[in-house]
Amino acid sequence: MKIGFDIDDTLIDLRGHAFHLYNKKLNQNVPLNVFHGLNRVEIHEPFGLTDEQGKKLWNDSLEEIYYTECPPFPQAVETLQELEKQGHEIYYITSRPKEHGERTREWLKGRGFPVQNDRFFYGMQDNEKVEIIKGLKLDYYFDDKPEVLNTLLNETLRVYIKDQSYNRHLKLPRIVNWTELQEIVFKSI
Ligand SMILES: [Mg+2]
Repeated sequence: MKIGFDIDDTLIDLRGHAFHLYNKKLNQNVPLNVFHGLNRVEIHEPFGLTDEQGKKLWNDSLEEIYYTECPPFPQAVETLQELEKQGHEIYYITSRPKEHGERTREWLKGRGFPVQNDRFFYGMQDNEKVEIIKGLKLDYYFDDKPEVLNTLLNETLRVYIKDQSYNRHLKLPRIVNWTELQEIVFKSI
């Protein structure tokens, strides 16, 4: 099987990591239950920031958000390693900006994710992912963002949404824990 993954907030808890960094940077103590209740991808609102201020803080903090110790979701690394061992092809498709592509790839390897250089794609807009995904003829694709998933609904691949507080309105097959992935793939063989 050819299995594709978005990275941020699908395989790794980037927003949660950034939320923690924002608390430190802004000397605030906004509790995690606020984070888990957010109904949008952006995380700045509970810190009292406008969209403009939030965007600036995100972009100014990008280096720190991307390359410090952002935790993978539980069992994400182990599950992907296992799938690769079983002979499945693992693809990564991230809209992280071009200048962060290669470092992100190496960062992922450093966390233990199985990455082959020619199966790693980056630097596209969210709405351009569909072209890459179509070209790769993936069997499965996993993402957290409604904007991306909505572009894939007419494709023949099996699309799953990684459960997050801002995507619960979408009626799509949903994965909550990465431990469920083995069974999903196993059932379809
Ligand atoms: Mg994402």
